Amino acid sequence: MFLIRCPNCGERDMSEFAYGGEAHIERPTQSDAMNDSEWAGYVFQRTNPKGIFAERWNHQAGCRRWFNMLRNTATDDILAVYRVGEPRPNVTANLPATPSGEATIGSGNDAAKVVQPGEGTAP
Ligand SMILES: [Zn+2]
Repeated sequence: MFLIRCPNCGERDMSEFAYGGEAHIERPTQSDAMNDSEWAGYVFQRTNPKGIFAERWNHQAGCRRWFNMLRNTATDDILAVYRVGEPRPNVTANLPATPSGEATIGSGNDAAKVVQPGEGTAP
């Protein structure tokens, strides 16, 4: 369990909220001129960072309003909460050092692993 601070109601249990995906996705203004690839990008393509991520949340068991949150996806730390329409706050986050030596920002895929001094590279 963790608490989320709604900008309208204050701190509440996370079970009162619904996740709404990535924030700050702008609807296309010239949709008639878009090809299928551009539409697919608008509808399906989202970032998936390990680190600071801007996301939409709805307080469905409270005020029922949408708001934005900056969350560190590596630690689940909530860095900022702000109303829709407000500018994204400028925050920083400390990313955890990973024991496997993977890149601090990335997919966690071993293909992106940073070889540490003393680690073998061939079996
Ligand atoms: Zn609320």
